[in-house]
Formats: sequence, structure tokens, C-alpha cells
Amino acid sequence: MAKGTGFGEAALQRLWFEHALPRHVVTSDGQRAEIVQTGWWNREGGPDFQDAAVRFGGRVLRSGDIELHLDAADWERHGHHRDPAYNGTVLHVALMGGAPARLEGGGLIPTVELGPQLPESIEAMLEQLGPRPWEGMDRSAHAGACASALAGADGTAVRGLLIEAGRHRLWLKAGRVARQWRRDGLMQTLWESLAEGLGYSENQIPFRLLARKAPARFVGRLSPVDREARLFGLAGFLPKVEVATWGGDGRDHAVELWRHWWSVAGAPDVRPVPARLWGRGRCRPANHPHRRVAALAAAGGALSRLLAALRKKDLAAFASVLSGLRHGYFECHAALGSRPAPARLALVGESRILDLLVNVAAPWILASGADSMTWTEGIAVSQSNRVLRIAAERLFGGAARAFRPRCALEQQGLLHIYHSFCATDATDCGACPLPGITAKWLAGPIEGR
Ligand code: SF4
Repeated sequence: MAKGTGFGEAALQRLWFEHALPRHVVTSDGQRAEIVQTGWWNREGGPDFQDAAVRFGGRVLRSGDIELHLDAADWERHGHHRDPAYNGTVLHVALMGGAPARLEGGGLIPTVELGPQLPESIEAMLEQLGPRPWEGMDRSAHAGACASALAGADGTAVRGLLIEAGRHRLWLKAGRVARQWRRDGLMQTLWESLAEGLGYSENQIPFRLLARKAPARFVGRLSPVDREARLFGLAGFLPKVEVATWGGDGRDHAVELWRHWWSVAGAPDVRPVPARLWGRGRCRPANHPHRRVAALAAAGGALSRLLAALRKKDLAAFASVLSGLRHGYFECHAALGSRPAPARLALVGESRILDLLVNVAAPWILASGADSMTWTEGIAVSQSNRVLRIAAERLFGGAARAFRPRCALEQQGLLHIYHSFCATDATDCGACPLPGITAKWLAGPIEGR
């Protein structure tokens, strides 16, 4: 809560979320700004509202994130000017103060000083909103126009719609796989896809870069420890000073990797992935980037077996190779230099394997010519995530919490709709074509879908 006010930043965020603040404002450097899309309320690390859209000067539409503060000086007080997670911010909104906000990546973004532009006091605006039953809950998005179109619709038809969208998403991925085969070959395509999948959404780019810096044809020839050392070194995870100060068996393992890395570390053509590319968001210990790089190194030793399973279109064999990957150190530790974990951590957990089945194996099998897609409905649902929760909220509104996808394809359908429509819509649903498509789908016969 800011000094002198009876409310905190969360109250300002709520007003933004509820579209209660003016949509047409003027930045402190004199630009007219129209809030076209308020963005999704992010309750985790990073900017407050993401995937927003702002039209500046009545012409230039910029998509990105929005950060709200009670006092404009909080931008620097909170260290956002040093945090790459805020580099996608397009507008800073502050109740008081109008200094432009500096980004870690360079450049300034405009600040809107909201206080003088409000039609009435924040307290009065909050009072008009009244209490909400979900106050304090982790809600990241509000219902979209789809929610009313789908309310009361036949459940089978709605699931059919999601499955259709999910199939479309898999075909798009299959197209990308086929294009990469032609360009980079089968093994490198598989290697990069695995790396991307192990990077999760947050670190897909640095993982893919890593797989290019250490290509499949090269890592396949290395011994397990050389392969791991090369990947850790290229990831920038073997800083000499830190390694020397780590304690316990973490130090032993890091020193072992160093012994295999130091002789190549200084070569002019060896350039690790830039540290700023690595996501620093909160992640569970089991998903620490060190463990994921160790998993990638282990997968690099099993590429031929994984490729053989894909050639046979055998999802179970593909999953079995991944679940059989082992690592003496990383099955007991979350990171280099961390304390031993209380229980064994699978190198590639069940949920990650499900993700790799749907994001790597299924598109691959489709790209190599599958007769039907019925088998894709057999891939079990994987863990939910923020985008899936937002997508469900947009589509089903209050019913989202009761919605349980029955297979990975339905989850893929949700993701497809979110990325193809919600995330690109700059009209707050007003000009989005999906409700029309949905209405036609729901009006058609269910048989034969
Ligand atoms: S943007 Fe389109 S798909 Fe998303 S909720 Fe609005 S109408 Fe539905």
C-alpha cells in the first residue's frame, strides 16, 4: 500500500482488469494512447498485464506488456530497469509521476500519469466495483465473447470443436517438422525439437540455440560426460569462480564437468548462450534449467533409439526411451551446487514426457505420413499451465474451473484457439471471427465430426 493512499497496487490492477480505467489517456510526453486490449492479468513474475495492445497517436498499434504502479518511481525501485522480463513492456501506467521507464534492453517507454486523468477518485471507482467472489484468487484472465456463445452448448460438440482445433495445431507443427527435415536433416530436427521441448515455454529459445551450437552430428560422437560438459559450458552454466566455491558433491560434479570443458572454453569460436536469454522466472526445483540441460545431454546419447521409435510410429517406445534416461547426480539434485533433494527426481518426468509426445513425436509421425489421427486422441492430458488456464477462462468464463480436458488434443485445441485468436485479437473480442465459426460448428450435425 502506498503512503497516503488507502489501497495498494492490486487495487489499481483490478480496476485495469475490470476495464474501469479510462481507455483513452495521454502519456507524459504528450502522446495520445488508446488501450485497445488490456492484456491478461499476470499474477506471477513479470509485467502485470501481458499481450496487451496500445494504439499511440491514433495510428501506431503496439502489442506487448503493461506495468502498473502507484508511483512512477517504483519502476526503478522494483528493479524493472534491470530485468529483461520487462523488455516487452510497451506502456508504464502510474497513478502519480510521469517519468518515462527505462528498459534493461535499452530505450525508454512512455509513462501515463493516471491520477490527473481519472474522472473520479480511485476509492470511488473501487466502491462501485464492489466485492467480487473471486477476490484474492489466482485469476489471470477474464471471460471473452466465446464464453456466452459456448454457455449451454452441447458438451460433445464443444469437445469436438477443441479436438478439431487441436488436430489443426498438430498439422501446423507437422508442417514445420517436414520443412526442417529438408533443411537440417532428421537427426538435427529431432535434436532441436527435444531441446525446445525440454526448455519449456520459458527457455525454448536458449535451448534451441544450444542445440544449434552443439549440433546432433557432433554431440552424438561425444562420450556422455563430454556431451554434458559441452552443453553446460555452452549454456553458460559453468562459471569458473562459482564452481570453485560450490560445496559438497555438487562441487565434485561441477569440477568434473569443468575438467572436460576448460580446454575448449577459450576457443574463439566457442560462444556460450548469452545469460540474458535464460528465463529467470520461478520454476519448480525439478524443472531447473541445469536439470533440463542434463536431460538434454542424456537424450543426446539416445537419439538413434528415439529416431527408431519415431520411424516405427511407436509412441510407447519413444516414451519408454525418455523415461529410461538416467543421471547419477541430477536424479538427486535440482541444480549444480544445490543440496540433495529429499526424494528421487526423475530426469524426464511423466508430465514432460507427455508434452514431448504431443509436441515432438506426434507432429513427427504426422509429417512422415500417418493414415489417420485417431491415435492422437489416446495421448493423455499433460499438466495444466498458465496459458491453458487463461484459454479456458476466455472460452468458458465461470465454467472454466469445472472444465477438464480429456486428452492432449483438447489441450492443444485450447492452445490453438488462444494463440490464433485471443492472443492476436486487438479488438477486445469485437472483431474476432471465432464466435461466428463456433456458432456454425455448434449448429451443424454432430454425427461424422
Ligand atoms: S478473442 Fe476471440 S477467441 Fe478469444 S475469447 Fe474473444 S472472441 Fe473468443
